[in-house]
Amino acid sequence: MTKVLECSNCGYRTFYKKKHCLECGGQEWNKQEPGVGELLAITTVHVSPEGVREPNRLGIARFEGANLVAQIRKGLNPGDNVKLDDSNILREGDNGTHVGAQFAPVDD
Ligand SMILES: [Zn+2]
Repeated sequence: MTKVLECSNCGYRTFYKKKHCLECGGQEWNKQEPGVGELLAITTVHVSPEGVREPNRLGIARFEGANLVAQIRKGLNPGDNVKLDDSNILREGDNGTHVGAQFAPVDD
């Protein structure tokens, strides 16, 4: 989930896969680089599913036209500029290792 999906008809953007565009009903999506986002808010989850880090710091960031919730690196605070790192291990368990996006400092 490190690319933003942009409706090829109207330009609506989302990180979350959808069958139809919420604005125009279009069904064709172009994958775009999200660029730099702004971290809006953070929270810490202290009880996580098995294999997920604890405490699990999560944030919501606003990118051009779309917001995303993801794990965040240590030291990030609301207002910081972030990029998406797609090499983050989200969970390790019986079904293998799940890699996903994490917010990282822009200058990392
Ligand atoms: Zn659309």
